[in-house]
Amino acid sequence: MIEKVVIIGSGPAGYTAGIYAGRANLNPVLYADEPRQIGAFNIVPGGQLMFTTEVENYPGFPKGVMGPEMMELFRQQAEHCGCRMVGRMISKVDFSRRPFQLWDSEDQLIEAHAVIVATGATANWLGLPNEQRLAQSGGGVSACAVCDGALPMFRNQPLAVVGGGDSAIEEATYLTKFASKVYLIHRRDKLRASKAMQDRALNNHKMEMIWNKVVVDVLGDNKITGVKLHDTVTQQESTLELRGLFIGIGHTPATAFLKNQMQLDEKGYIVLKDLYRTTTSVDGVFAAGDVADSVYRQAITAAGMGCKAALDAERWLAAQGIE
Ligand code: NAP
Repeated sequence: MIEKVVIIGSGPAGYTAGIYAGRANLNPVLYADEPRQIGAFNIVPGGQLMFTTEVENYPGFPKGVMGPEMMELFRQQAEHCGCRMVGRMISKVDFSRRPFQLWDSEDQLIEAHAVIVATGATANWLGLPNEQRLAQSGGGVSACAVCDGALPMFRNQPLAVVGGGDSAIEEATYLTKFASKVYLIHRRDKLRASKAMQDRALNNHKMEMIWNKVVVDVLGDNKITGVKLHDTVTQQESTLELRGLFIGIGHTPATAFLKNQMQLDEKGYIVLKDLYRTTTSVDGVFAAGDVADSVYRQAITAAGMGCKAALDAERWLAAQGIE
């Protein structure tokens, strides 16, 4: 059987594509990773929202909603609309053939006329066990200030952002609206961020730069109480008291399996052929969500792109005479 459309990825983009493609009678099938444990990390379907606690900025939930609960609702809605779910990842593709060929994590071959890639991008973490524990339990550690920074637990509290790029400064600047103070912890004594962003950080009286320091542990049982820092110049250790820690050290798009199959940018993000569409360098392959968007990275923008990708796929299939 040749699938009309295969969706890869199970965040807001993938599930929304599943809802629209299902309602368009395309009988879509969505491949998402099966839950598993890798070291200290829980890999679960549902994308980055599975690691978020309360989502307050997704329209339709005036009282907020927990990230994992929201993804379960998305999943149920996609299934209700006729999208089939398979608990395996796609590990290899051949986009040079028609129909496209894809292989899942059990090496089974799937053939598809159209593909929607919605595999997302994962926030980079420091890789500390206590960082992951407190991030997953809602203990005040997050990789997204725009998602979590406005929560009551962070109001008028000392917070810190790790990183020296544009994201870290943008996140730190955003947090100064709520926090009593925001420390920017950077491992060097020079910021990577653009000059304009640097000026913004250095002129913000609520922000304090902590140069040449690496976070080596996150302290606190149920809630973060501080971090342990290592000075890269003096080699000394110190403690900084905090009520929130935001990791802003970049993202990695999940596109390793697409290398040499389609156009990716130098960081691995899928390049869109037209910024207003979801078309890619391969005719019949569409991209949605953070895998093709390093700028907005929000659940609502990913869901919007998932909708666009399903509509683009539906129109493309119709133009090929495949209905
Ligand atoms: P980035 O530019 O790659 O910066 C990552 C930062 O994290 C760097 O300062 C890096 O330190 C630090 N870092 C990396 N790994 C680390 C580790 N293990 N421990 C401690 N620090 C670590 O990533 P980004 O800031 O997310 O930006 C990505 C792209 O999006 C950039 O092109 C950026 O310009 C763009 N962007 C633009 C805007 C805007 O214009 N408004 C906003 C956000 C992002 P080193 O400097 O020492 O390498």
